Amino acid sequence: MGAATVQETLTAADRCDRCGARAYMRVTLPGGGELLFCGHHGHAHKDALAAAEASIQDESQVLSATPTAPPEGER
Ligand SMILES: [Zn+2]
Repeated sequence: MGAATVQETLTAADRCDRCGARAYMRVTLPGGGELLFCGHHGHAHKDALAAAEASIQDESQVLSATPTAPPEGER
């Protein structure tokens, strides 16, 4: 809320901006914009985002911690 800069943990309500899958990466752009990506798209765009000096919050490690969840990007 407001101008707070606290980064919250991504939840099932957070969806990939590209495909609508559950988001595991939150990207904050230098200009202040924010993008959400699933594991697949997050890694696909990671290099370009890093080159743009975007801040990447990567929570994709939770995928390996929850083996009952289906892997992202297998459609
Ligand atoms: Zn995606």
